Amino acid sequence: MLTNKLGFEGKKILQKVIKAANQMGVNTYLVGGTVRDLYLNKTNYDLDIAIEGNAQEFANFLNPVLGGDIRTYERFLSATITLPSFFVLDITTTRKEIYLNYGSLPIVEPGNIYDDLKRRDFSINSLAIKLNNQDKEMIIDPFNGLNDLDKGLIKVLHNESFREDPTRILRAARLLTRLKFNLEENTEKTLTKSIKYINRISGTRLKNEYKKIVKEDNTLQILHLVDAWGVTPYVFPGIKLNYLNPKSIGFIKTWCRNRKEIETWLILLMLIYWQCSPKIDYIFEVPFDFSKKEKLCLEWMVENRKVIKRLIQENINFSFIQLHRLMYNVPEEVETFLLSLLGEKREFLIKEIKKARQGVYLPITGRDLLKYGFRPGPIIGKILNNLEQEVLEGRINTREEALNWLLEMRDNYAE
Ligand code: ATP
Repeated sequence: MLTNKLGFEGKKILQKVIKAANQMGVNTYLVGGTVRDLYLNKTNYDLDIAIEGNAQEFANFLNPVLGGDIRTYERFLSATITLPSFFVLDITTTRKEIYLNYGSLPIVEPGNIYDDLKRRDFSINSLAIKLNNQDKEMIIDPFNGLNDLDKGLIKVLHNESFREDPTRILRAARLLTRLKFNLEENTEKTLTKSIKYINRISGTRLKNEYKKIVKEDNTLQILHLVDAWGVTPYVFPGIKLNYLNPKSIGFIKTWCRNRKEIETWLILLMLIYWQCSPKIDYIFEVPFDFSKKEKLCLEWMVENRKVIKRLIQENINFSFIQLHRLMYNVPEEVETFLLSLLGEKREFLIKEIKKARQGVYLPITGRDLLKYGFRPGPIIGKILNNLEQEVLEGRINTREEALNWLLEMRDNYAE
């Protein structure tokens, strides 16, 4: 039985799922990537579960038994339960999908398991195992997906598939690379013809697909594969991917591995434009929906490009105050991006860069300035900036020194 491969913990979870489904009287299936990976003996802690019924109600009924963290998504008739063990349950209502406009999200309606398998991307993902079928394991495979798994083929379910949802082109590249599979002949033909539809994908979906590519182990290989298909101009306008340095990518991935809060994809995007674009500001033509913070990182790179180039070339002559000006208060993504460019030199600069991102302790405040007769207004900020420079360059260390310096300033300003 395929489900035996889930291991002790996985099987225990499945027993609870089956019990809950029987209590609620709904048909339950393991579907999609979970079945595919079980068949291929690949570890997958994502359990894709489909319910012929209300997935949210089911998830709310099941979760108290599992003790996980639950999230429900009204629009997608689905819920996610994250368990303290590595397992994540993606629970969805079996559905029909109707595409009104190619490239945008479809209208979703409840349907049965066959409708659900019909809406999927590839035959190898259009597989289900019926769970509440007593002792017998019933595999539902309407598109011969198991056969394609044996042959190592990625095959779409119909010729309109990539046009209907061009994100499947990027999904195909991910699976081909990850599983070391090939494109079935007809699928390859329709894929090649559909590349131009990538420009119909919304900025949010395109960004999400790109994020998933960055999460894969073989990101560079996937990027080169889609580049060979002609995808790059639609996602990364102006880029010549061959210039991308694998060592920099390796550094970024390793550096970000255990830091969930860092946007690895953003750092990689900055690197791609830094290394592969004739003009760095082409990065603003990437058709993603960027958040405020993300835009800030891109702007930082474009505005500081000359200073960054100098830092890479002549870090020895770079003063701490220059580094502080460059790095003060920037997001961590910016720091990682800069470190990835520095190569061997990063060993010297790592501590300095960390320090430069932090604020500087000033021994006196704006209030002291007012006490000493300065008038409120821009002058206060200007003096505090000058003071910061004195502190950074080590000429002022104590409050007393700062107050003496302030008296001098006051005399200068009075003149
Ligand atoms: P991964 O191992 O990368 O998580 P997965 O196959 O589990 O791969 P998900 O993104 O978790 O992929 O999606 C779950 C399932 O939903 C897929 O197996 C596939 O059947 C289906 N699916 C996801 N995206 C699409 C899409 N754009 N078009 C059709 N079916 C899709």
